[in-house]
Amino acid sequence: MGSSTNEFDVIVIGGGIMGSATAYQTAKRGCRTLLLEQFDLLHHLGSSHGESRTIRATYPEDYYTDMVLESSKLWREAEAEAGYRVYTSTPHLDMGPANDVSLQAVIAICLKNSFSVQVLNQRAVADRFSGRLSIPKDWIAVYTEFGGIIKPTKAVSMFQALAFQRGAVLKDNMEVKDIKTDEVRGGIVVYTAMGDKFWGRKCVVTAGAWTKKLVYSITGHELPIQPLETAVWYWRIKEGHKEKYAIGGDFLTFASYGQPCIYGTPSLEFPGLIKIAVHGGCLCDPDKRPWLPGRDLDSLKEWIEGRFLGLLDCSTPASTQSCMYSMTPDENFVLDFLGREFKEDVVIGGGFSGHGFMMSPVIGRILADLALTGSADGVELKHFRIGRFDENPKGNVKEFADQVGFIESPN
Ligand SMILES: Cc1cc2nc3c(=O)[nH]c(=O)nc-3n(C[C@H](O)[C@H](O)[C@H](O)COP(=O)(O)OP(=O)(O)OC[C@H]3O[C@@H](n4cnc5c(N)ncnc54)[C@H](O)[C@@H]3O)c2cc1C
Repeated sequence: MGSSTNEFDVIVIGGGIMGSATAYQTAKRGCRTLLLEQFDLLHHLGSSHGESRTIRATYPEDYYTDMVLESSKLWREAEAEAGYRVYTSTPHLDMGPANDVSLQAVIAICLKNSFSVQVLNQRAVADRFSGRLSIPKDWIAVYTEFGGIIKPTKAVSMFQALAFQRGAVLKDNMEVKDIKTDEVRGGIVVYTAMGDKFWGRKCVVTAGAWTKKLVYSITGHELPIQPLETAVWYWRIKEGHKEKYAIGGDFLTFASYGQPCIYGTPSLEFPGLIKIAVHGGCLCDPDKRPWLPGRDLDSLKEWIEGRFLGLLDCSTPASTQSCMYSMTPDENFVLDFLGREFKEDVVIGGGFSGHGFMMSPVIGRILADLALTGSADGVELKHFRIGRFDENPKGNVKEFADQVGFIESPN
């Protein structure tokens, strides 16, 4: 196979947040780690770039709450190691029609887990957010002290730097074309488009929106992980009101249930602008992106006008950024062994369905555990099994509505 510089304990494919967090975990445990990325490190063509990601623990599925809380601790540990901050705490508010099944499930799960939330009616929202935020009479809001914003590109760079400091090798512009089992030595061999060959004891695939393509080319098996092009929009806060929505005060991250599902963060990354976007997008091929705003903004503008009491300029977004989700049919992640001829030598982390970033530290921990020990403590992995789609093409059965809206075509 050539020199030992091409041999590793773990080869991680994909240098987004999940691959970078995994490489950090395996390097930290003393494993010779290689991270391969098809584009430049910190590129803007996948899912992990940009200015902000929300962290929240209010989920209609209770297994995510614990994962978010563990991640919150792991974010702080990584920040302490790096010596800078990527995660700013804020409170968080979910809102929506009082009879929304998902929102009711959120409240039930929080109560069950003794996770502290306050349920507010229209009057209580008006009192708490005096003239800044309003909900209709038949809506409720769920307030919690736990929320926050993570800086995505900075966080990816942090995990890559920490992995590098611990001896990981990071190679960019290395597109992986194939993975094969090494019949003689055991382990696997990874082949790149440029003809490089690397041997690994174990391999972790974290290829984001390319997961389906890569897995298909390696195994011929089609995973239902659908790339979706989405966009975030920044809106101008009208003169005299900028401080009301700025980070560092009491304004917060928020999500609105029902369709369209809308989310946003306090004003942080661009002074005077606030991020408010729709949790949804249009089906795409990650290598042939439409690069379009992708949706009619009328319903979003109407929502902003109503909720933000006319204090934002809704005529047109001040700034737009494009990004991709990797959707599974049940919006749950895939964290499992790839199986087949690879048995437990190849681990896969994909299908993060627009809500993975906040949990990337724990996902890196789980993927490293699976690769190095064959199991992961403290997390019920049955919800994330790859085989669930063979049993039911829709995956896990849920009693509440999907969060993410799809459109087939951008036009
Ligand atoms: C607009 C937007 C808003 C979001 N908001 C939130 C939020 O508020 N909170 C939250 O928790 N999550 C949020 N998410 C989701 C979160 O950002 C994603 O779940 C997460 O970034 C997925 O990371 P990843 O590493 O799986 O994918 P990626 O970042 O895309 O990384 C995969 C990497 O693999 C590389 N790759 C692919 N194929 C190959 C190959 N063959 N060889 C080598 N490299 C390869 C790709 O180039 C890419 O760099 C949001 C996502 C978007 C797009």
